[in-house]
Amino acid sequence: MSKKVSYTLVAVLVLLSLVLSACGSTASEAPAGEKLLVGISMPTKSSTRWISDGESMVKEFEAMGYATDLQFADNDIPNQLAQIENMVTKGAKVLVIAAIDGTTLSDVLQKAHDSGAIVISYDRLITKTANVDYYATFDNFGVGVIQGTQLLEGLGLKPGEKAPAGVGPFNVELFGGSPDDTNAFYFYDGAMSVIQPFIDDGTIVIQSGQMGMDKVGTLRWLAATAQSRMDNLLSAYYTDKRVDAVLSPYDGLSIGILSSLKGVGYCTPEQPCPVVTGQDAEVASVKSIIAGEQTYTVFKDTRVLAKQAAKMADQALKGQTVEINDTTTYDNLVKVVPSYLLTPISIDINNYQKELVDTGYIKAEDLK
Ligand code: BGC
Repeated sequence: MSKKVSYTLVAVLVLLSLVLSACGSTASEAPAGEKLLVGISMPTKSSTRWISDGESMVKEFEAMGYATDLQFADNDIPNQLAQIENMVTKGAKVLVIAAIDGTTLSDVLQKAHDSGAIVISYDRLITKTANVDYYATFDNFGVGVIQGTQLLEGLGLKPGEKAPAGVGPFNVELFGGSPDDTNAFYFYDGAMSVIQPFIDDGTIVIQSGQMGMDKVGTLRWLAATAQSRMDNLLSAYYTDKRVDAVLSPYDGLSIGILSSLKGVGYCTPEQPCPVVTGQDAEVASVKSIIAGEQTYTVFKDTRVLAKQAAKMADQALKGQTVEINDTTTYDNLVKVVPSYLLTPISIDINNYQKELVDTGYIKAEDLK
């Protein structure tokens, strides 16, 4: 064999082995019969909704033939980062993430992107990165509008209408969610879009004067933080007045706020509970509604959200058109993230049975 021919042969063999190893690496991502991995990162188990979200997603993805890795981060940011990093290392092809702090994931999502993974921001918007492909959530401003409308309704007022003669003025206090979660701002803004006109015309009085997310936000959505703020409000502004309503953006906070109120004698025949709103239709709050304490909550069916997120991931992985219904609202400071928004439902004593129990979201025996 001439030298020239043998060089050519070596070159061909090298090329062939490169091609084969490239094929091999593609195949090793999804050898026939091996399931693609989906990483599901949820913020905490301290609120039952995230447990339901996680479990529903595992069910949906596994029914579609994927393998799943579900992790809860205990509301600890470094923990969530490490868990996501580990999912990327394990070769996850999709990451579905409900962030603790939406601003903290840029580095790990760069790695995810470089490895070719699809990233779905789940319920909470991930911000400050281009590496988020889709957002599956509820109409978050709409949630706030429902909460504001509930508060008004509880006081005998209607959004957009003047207070009937002799109705009010009412003392109201406002609570917001965690300032590192963009949802908190949508909830607050939605609620204030219907409440503000009543503050402007004096029908509603915020005795503490504390308004705006910088004053009323509750870091990490912690019930204890809301409870101690309510304690302070009651002792500073309500020793000789009644608080008529409290805007609370989340059931966990509502329960904390109600404990504080009960501590100073509310929720008794002489001094009924004020109107208290909430969100998530958590068992403790639905029980509280049944007991005549919390007045309202907002139901966001996590089963439907999980299904939607799984569907979007599957469509994206298969290169199909991904189902979205909003391309303008969710600007994450780098891009507007294509989103699918679901519709939240207002819950009170009159419809909890139909919406929550009859649909199987909450078991009747859990409410006993
Ligand atoms: C979710 C709410 C939840 C809150 C606290 C928000 O991002 O949208 O459903 O109540 O976090 O967990």
